Amino acid sequence: MKKFYITTAIDYVNAKPHIGHAYEKIAADILSRYHKIQNENVYFLTGVDEHGVKVEKAALAANLSPQEFCDNLAKSFQEAWNKLDIKYDKFIRTTSLEHKASVQNIFLKLKAAGALYKSKYNGLYCEGCEDFVRERDLTDAKLCPNHLQEPKTIAEENYFFALSKYKAKIKTWLENNDSVLYPLSRKNEVINQLNDPELADFSITRQRSSLNWGIAVPGEPEQIIYVWIDALSNYITAIGYDQNEENLHKWWPADIQLIGKDITKFHSIYWIAMLIALNLDLPKQIYAHGFLTIEGQKISKSLGNIIDPVTLVDEFSATAVRFYLFSQINFDQDGDFSRLSFINCINAYLANNLGNLLNRTITMADRYANSEIPQVSPIDITLKTIVEENTVKYQNAMLNLQFNEAINATFRIVDATNKYLNESKPWTLFKENKFNETKTVLYNCLMMLNEIAILMYPFTPKLSYDIFIQLGYSDSQIVKITNGQTHKLISGTIINNNGPIFQRIEMAKETV
Ligand SMILES: [Zn+2]
Repeated sequence: MKKFYITTAIDYVNAKPHIGHAYEKIAADILSRYHKIQNENVYFLTGVDEHGVKVEKAALAANLSPQEFCDNLAKSFQEAWNKLDIKYDKFIRTTSLEHKASVQNIFLKLKAAGALYKSKYNGLYCEGCEDFVRERDLTDAKLCPNHLQEPKTIAEENYFFALSKYKAKIKTWLENNDSVLYPLSRKNEVINQLNDPELADFSITRQRSSLNWGIAVPGEPEQIIYVWIDALSNYITAIGYDQNEENLHKWWPADIQLIGKDITKFHSIYWIAMLIALNLDLPKQIYAHGFLTIEGQKISKSLGNIIDPVTLVDEFSATAVRFYLFSQINFDQDGDFSRLSFINCINAYLANNLGNLLNRTITMADRYANSEIPQVSPIDITLKTIVEENTVKYQNAMLNLQFNEAINATFRIVDATNKYLNESKPWTLFKENKFNETKTVLYNCLMMLNEIAILMYPFTPKLSYDIFIQLGYSDSQIVKITNGQTHKLISGTIINNNGPIFQRIEMAKETV
């Protein structure tokens, strides 16, 4: 069995998850489900990044210990993912004992490999960025351009990562492997960064006085391991680095590491340098996706436009949220979430095109085919061609993370089937006592719905489940299908007419 290891960025727990966090996790879930249905052995890792000054401060403000604060937020992330039908295999928390122990071992291994050294650091530090900032990047008023606050001058002795030793190797890796960093525009950006002499060794620890909530360097309680080694290493500590070598080598290297475009540098330079220093294989692909905007604006606390994915699911369903985000947006570019286009999209695709096709077909099968899957019939030649062509397009799109293209291919099948049904008019055939012809048409439509349910499954697992149930599959058969076993309609199976699978969202209340 082929393995597929997919990771997401781990979210920083200084606030509850918003729709932007959910977007990437849903994408990972889509890929995980897609590869499972291809009969691959899949491991899907996500989790939270829990250390750092901001978390400590937020905990203090909430009158909680940092650990209690993290426990609460980790739970709210898990609950949100659960609501969105995101089924991960592991949710890593960087405050877990296993992770902390592994990170300390990784530190010692990097040190032994000659990748770390101690040095005095003098610099301007922005607490918002939790990073040193360069003088020349500050605003005219000498403020951090991201946080508009004044950076502190910090002088302390820290450990540094000797990035300069690895730059040439990282460049070769990027240049020699086409698909390791996607989209390609990002790759060129990173190669330019590697060519910039200002990309220097970076500090990977802080004095306890500037960072208390974190993992200490073994034997040096005053040195706290900074975010790079702590957070980036989750991708290997989660699968047993230094604790379960067999499991590590079962999954590593990752097949896809999904990240937001803003953290491309850390993943394609810092993380890769760490892996080279640890003598581990490099990920097969790092994929930097675009960002969501809300009604044309950047998601931001100060704009007050943060959308809580749980509220959205409660209002519209996980199916609607998942479908909208991945049918309307190119994953490698920025995309907008707009409430009006959301409602229009859901009504058009799910309630009308697909929902009506299913509802009409099942209702007629009830009436004209004794509520069962009819005898195997020859497949309409036009439909057959459309399914074959679009399934190939779908597969290619899925492998390239062009999710909206995959959904478009699926809906070309939906549209063709609706057209076939309208033109074949089984209700007229039945009235004319052409019973075999009637059943042939219905069989064709049921076959198409069976294919559509499979193709839709990674995007809208609950909706596909409902279609499978109406097509007469049992729960255990559905489990098998969604884990890669073949699906075939069996004549004589009793169908379940459970009514419309998707209700239209009424616009009236929206336009008020
Ligand atoms: Zn800042």
